[in-house]
Amino acid sequence: MKLLGSLIIYMLLMLGFCQNPKPTTQNTSHFNHLSEFEKSIIVNKGTEAPFSGEYDKHDEDGLYHCKACMSPLFRSADKFNSNCGWPSFDDEIDGAIKRKTDYSAGVVRTEIMCSNCSGHLGHVFEGELLTDKNLRHCVNSISLEFKPSIFN
Ligand SMILES: [Zn+2]
Repeated sequence: MKLLGSLIIYMLLMLGFCQNPKPTTQNTSHFNHLSEFEKSIIVNKGTEAPFSGEYDKHDEDGLYHCKACMSPLFRSADKFNSNCGWPSFDDEIDGAIKRKTDYSAGVVRTEIMCSNCSGHLGHVFEGELLTDKNLRHCVNSISLEFKPSIFN
C-alpha cells in the first residue's frame, strides 16, 4: 500500500509538471527574477571572479540547482576541491547539462549550460587527471542554488 501511495503521489506530481509549458531557449521567463549581476553571468555568459563565489569552498550534502529554473544539476557527492577558484564537479545529474563548443576566449573550450533553460553555468574540462572520472565541470557559484539533502 505504501508503494501504491508513493506511485499516486508521483503521478500527481508528474501531472502538475506536465501542465507547465516546456521552456525553450526563446523562453526568457526563467531569467526575469535574476539580479543584474546574475544575468551578467547566466544570460550573458560571464564569469565570476575566482575564489569569490559562495560555493567554491562549500561542503554540505545536497543538490546544486540551476539558479534560473531550479532544475537539479549536480550532486554534492560529485563536488571536489580543484583549487581553481570555482565549484568543481566531476559528474552531472543525467541529462541536466548540455554542452557547446566555445571559441570566445581565443581557445577552444566546452561551455556547459542548463539543459532546461540554457542558462550559462561555466565550462567542462577533460583529461586533467584530477579525479577518476577525469572531468571538471567548472561552474560559477552564482549560476547555482544549493539545497541541503532532506534525507540526512
Ligand atoms: Zn536552468
